[in-house]
Amino acid sequence: MFDSIKKIFSSGEEETTSLTSGAKPDISREKSAQLYEKAKTFFPGGVNSPVRAFKSVYGTPLFIEKGDGCYLWDADGNQFIDFCCSWGPLILGHNPAKVREKVIEVMANGMSFGAPTALENELAELIISNNKYIEKIRFTSSGTEAVMSAIRLARGTTKRDKIIKFEGCYHGHSDSLLVKAGSGLVTFGETSSAGIPKSFANETIVVSLNDKEALKKAFEDFKEQIAAVIIEPVPANNGLLLQDKDFLQFVRDICNENCALLIFDEVISGFRVGFEGAAGYYDIQPDIVTYGKIIGGGLPVGAYASSAAIMSNISPEGGVYQAGTLSGNPVAMAAGIAQLTELSKSGFYKELNNKTQEFADSIQRYATAKNYKFKVFTIGSIFWFAFTDKDKIQTAEDIDPASMEKFKMMHKELLNRGIYFGPSGYEVGFISAAHNKVDLEKAKRQIFETLDLVFRTR
Ligand SMILES: *Cc1c(COP(=O)(O)O)cnc(C)c1O
Repeated sequence: MFDSIKKIFSSGEEETTSLTSGAKPDISREKSAQLYEKAKTFFPGGVNSPVRAFKSVYGTPLFIEKGDGCYLWDADGNQFIDFCCSWGPLILGHNPAKVREKVIEVMANGMSFGAPTALENELAELIISNNKYIEKIRFTSSGTEAVMSAIRLARGTTKRDKIIKFEGCYHGHSDSLLVKAGSGLVTFGETSSAGIPKSFANETIVVSLNDKEALKKAFEDFKEQIAAVIIEPVPANNGLLLQDKDFLQFVRDICNENCALLIFDEVISGFRVGFEGAAGYYDIQPDIVTYGKIIGGGLPVGAYASSAAIMSNISPEGGVYQAGTLSGNPVAMAAGIAQLTELSKSGFYKELNNKTQEFADSIQRYATAKNYKFKVFTIGSIFWFAFTDKDKIQTAEDIDPASMEKFKMMHKELLNRGIYFGPSGYEVGFISAAHNKVDLEKAKRQIFETLDLVFRTR
């Protein structure tokens, strides 16, 4: 998604790869191509979210007709093992019976009331009673909304205006967070989208991940002005920029020293690296946490959560206004309840994470044995393929943009072999509970052969 911002204005002209013999013939994309032509007459760029437009890879978007388990089918009837999983929400795979049945049961009673329902209590209780880092929660309808509201809550609580974010972390598309670093150690953000007033960007300070000095300097330069530091504790929107626990603890401590709040944006990592997300994984207490993606079981849900004291600043209890016509929507709550119930069962994450680790390890072993400049980074059931020989990639600047050419080749070849990855090398892959050993073996074989082709091509 972060990538989508950078690539938003890039051209999407048709190109061809120069894969050597051994490449599979192109799959039929006739129906998808027709649907895309039609979609372009309705939607800017033919899509309702930019990264879907395949601007960073070859070809035009596949229009999806159906999903089941770890499989996807497109409009031309091609079948794929899916490692995008709707960008993260589908931790149980596509269309799991338990979620589908609960949704249908609840939907039979109506789809929205604009009044409280018991389902909201049920989902909140399931979350809060299994998460020692939060006491109260508010549901929204997207991750963007959750983060935007968390920032407002932090500002309203501290009575300060400025926030610090990290280059390479994505926090949704609200104005104050669509900013990127300028040049220098500590910079005011430069807007990364047209349409954002410079004055908004001036309230956001951008520093590099894994850079204690920059963070220290930001707090010195803007003494008593910083409301919050926001971070993806598992940065997974611009590659997978795994941070050392030591750095995350430093962020926690410097916030405490400066009476600033720490916001963990766990829209991806929440319920993914464990039921308690990255807060639980690293055992670091954030002041405010945001959720999205998995929390809604494939339907549009976001949430932000904190201590009872901080949450008391939200209206109608406090003066920080935030609302939503469809917030806590019963059908969406039902999907969340059904999905999170499965995740809360003992052993769920252990099995999923082990499966992912094995998958990542065996791909890494293959690439290493062949001396390919290729690394698989992984945490929980998230993984990222990086065309690099670096052992660690912890900042956005560590990613070589030229390496994305190899991802493009890989993406095309994998599609032709029935393996679906998100259409950008800056995006991570996800493994769901529905990916069984046989599926993963099948995918691995295709990935091995594709790596051979990509690294043979110059
Ligand atoms: C996806 C994402 C968001 C935005 O969520 P939407 O539901 O797409 O609005 C925010 N923060 C992070 C970390 C995300 O991964």
